[in-house]
Amino acid sequence: MTSPQALYEGKAKIIYATPDSQILRAYYKDDATAFNAQKRGSITGKGEVNCTMSSYLFQKLEVAGIPTHWLGQPSPREMLVRAVKIIPLEVVVRNIAAGSLCLQTGIPVGTPLEEPLVDFYYKDDALGDPLLTPARIQLLRAATPEQLEGLTQLSLSVNHYLSQFFRECGITLVDFKLEYGVDDQGQLLLADEISPDTCRLWDANESDPERRVMDKDRFRKDLGQVEEAYQRVLEQVLAHC
Ligand code: UDP
Repeated sequence: MTSPQALYEGKAKIIYATPDSQILRAYYKDDATAFNAQKRGSITGKGEVNCTMSSYLFQKLEVAGIPTHWLGQPSPREMLVRAVKIIPLEVVVRNIAAGSLCLQTGIPVGTPLEEPLVDFYYKDDALGDPLLTPARIQLLRAATPEQLEGLTQLSLSVNHYLSQFFRECGITLVDFKLEYGVDDQGQLLLADEISPDTCRLWDANESDPERRVMDKDRFRKDLGQVEEAYQRVLEQVLAHC
């Protein structure tokens, strides 16, 4: 038997075909990149943490009425997902100012936002994933106006659910990035992953701006104890009943 051919290899995952053309298998790697892949490294155990945490949260979100691409987790680093056409947008929801929002607006890090802010970025590494406006999304035909409205409403619902969920885990959900696909019926499905790679997560019981960080910012900013932070997030999530 020959080993299966990868359909696509990204920065954090390898996507394989399966005997069913409607189902793909995502293999989660330990490779880590930041700043549009200018910084590269590895976070031991990250693949298992991100695959397991995403699987858990996708199932919770399905129960809460959010359609996702998740079908199963056959092993700690492998996820079976519905084959979808990925919409070339990164949807970022923000509850507290951090990261690029602070750099671009001057709002101090840690400022709570009155309402969640939804930002759209173009999924294009060569362009550096630029921030888009609704008019530019139409110009690029990256999503229809109806899809854009659907992405916004679904993302706000995900934020509503996850903010409460993480609060109960002792973690503050600062911001996060979502990706979506469209199935063969035209339905929007939440795709990709929800993990410490794609969320800013702060220890709710810690006020020190470095010690509270439990996400990829530990890698981005060389704060140390990256693996420990990822493992602790997973433990706190899985301990939630
Ligand atoms: N994010 C992501 N992938 C990206 C860019 C951002 O998962 O390519 C996540 C990031 O981890 C954070 C949120 O989206 O939780 C907002 O990121 P921001 O726009 O502040 O950019 P950053 O500071 O990460 O460059």
